[in-house]
Amino acid sequence: MLAKVFSGTTIGLEGVLIEVEVDVAGKGFPSLTIVGLPDKAVDEAKDRVRTAIINTGFEIPDSRITVNLAPANLPKEGSSFDLPIAIGILAASGMIKKEALDNSLFLGELSLEGRLRPVTGVMPVAILAAQKKIKNLFLPIKNTMEAALIDDLDNFPVFDLADLILHLNGEKLMLPQERISWSSLTKNEEYEFDFLDIKGQEQAKRAMMIAAAGFHNLHLKGPPGAGKTMLSRALPSILPEMDKDEVLEVSKIYSICGLLKNDFFVRCRPFRSPHHTISRIGLVGGGTKPAPGEVSLAHRGVLFLDEFPEFPRSVLEALRQPLEDGRVTISRASGSLTFPSRFLLLAASNPCPCGYLGHPKKSCRCLPGTILKYKKRISGPLLDRIDLHVDVPPVEEEKLSSFESGVKSCKVRERVIQAREKQRKRFQNLPIKTNGEMGSAEVRKYCRLTDKAVDLLKQAISRLSLSARSYFKTIKIGQTIADLDGQDKIEANFIAEALQYRAKED
Ligand SMILES: [Zn+2]
Repeated sequence: MLAKVFSGTTIGLEGVLIEVEVDVAGKGFPSLTIVGLPDKAVDEAKDRVRTAIINTGFEIPDSRITVNLAPANLPKEGSSFDLPIAIGILAASGMIKKEALDNSLFLGELSLEGRLRPVTGVMPVAILAAQKKIKNLFLPIKNTMEAALIDDLDNFPVFDLADLILHLNGEKLMLPQERISWSSLTKNEEYEFDFLDIKGQEQAKRAMMIAAAGFHNLHLKGPPGAGKTMLSRALPSILPEMDKDEVLEVSKIYSICGLLKNDFFVRCRPFRSPHHTISRIGLVGGGTKPAPGEVSLAHRGVLFLDEFPEFPRSVLEALRQPLEDGRVTISRASGSLTFPSRFLLLAASNPCPCGYLGHPKKSCRCLPGTILKYKKRISGPLLDRIDLHVDVPPVEEEKLSSFESGVKSCKVRERVIQAREKQRKRFQNLPIKTNGEMGSAEVRKYCRLTDKAVDLLKQAISRLSLSARSYFKTIKIGQTIADLDGQDKIEANFIAEALQYRAKED
């Protein structure tokens, strides 16, 4: 007898439907074979499935059992096929009604006693199931929340094989997990640092507001102890909340990495801060089983690189493609994979290896050659992709001890959201969302400058010998300042401010 069961896997971030065909032949030496490019974990399913079925109180038929995972040319990885294989064997040997398998998809690893263990990559498969109009999804309990935001699915948390068999045979029905409506989710209001906690550093805070509003990459430069790290960690508190599509997009990445916390989706914009000893693969992704790197885990959020020049040059150079394209392409034997990587790069660096170059009170102990080498570690093309460069000077003691408080993050965020709203209208029907993502063509099409602003920019080109790239960057930042100010045109003082944020090497 033959049975067909739907399951799924992921290629990159996309779900792929897998048909698990199980044939139980009446004659021949009893055996269990899995075909269809299984990896070792899939092949080991044989033993888990066999033991789980027996320990659930059912019998494995004494026949030749063949399991085919189709499409056959796609490599199958991991343990999530245990459940569909077990269900297929039970259906093919007449222990589960085959009709019960229509319109259903199964995913999950089995323990030897027949309990379900969580697996990775559930969310992309759940989204696919909804697209393919497959109504019922049977998942390990710990994975069911991943599908709770997706409409048109009945998503069943399965404790063990025994419960599932009773349900499929209509003997004891399980209830689907209650769906979560987007509007019922509470907003996140907890952040590690608030702008209110940071004394002084008004220019840096202003630059951070601009970065948050236009999703511009930002470089903070200053001596140790000036508060660069604290400022950086406060950035998430002024970023707008993610919309539903962004939440699903980001959660898919965390789902395939098995990084969803509390078995839920990612609500806050990611803030990733890898150490400078990270490998190239760790940063941009790859490996023998290609996995997303930090740039993709930071998608729609912030990638914070503290001590920027300490990262090996080869690692930093690998950032160029994801910064430019908003995605990473990883080639592997069976074709290439693409992961999204639209992140805000927030880099922090000391002015020199010891950190005190240009400090008003402490003196720098570095040799001139070392300083030059240190600065050269970050290549021009990489610096070019950073729109805002800001000095974070040491804070004067009076300011540190003053009780004078700054502006709360939530107030800054309100302005950022207003500026984002203007951008949303500007870029509707386009693949970009923010000013920071504009290329030169979009700058020409959408940015309008006042006559005075044009004059100022012309002067700057000759006086500061601005490169073409700096020219466009200045206009982009000017546009974000105009959006923050609620203006339709870019005024001269916006350009003047934008010019302050250029890299001094420009
Ligand atoms: Zn120094």
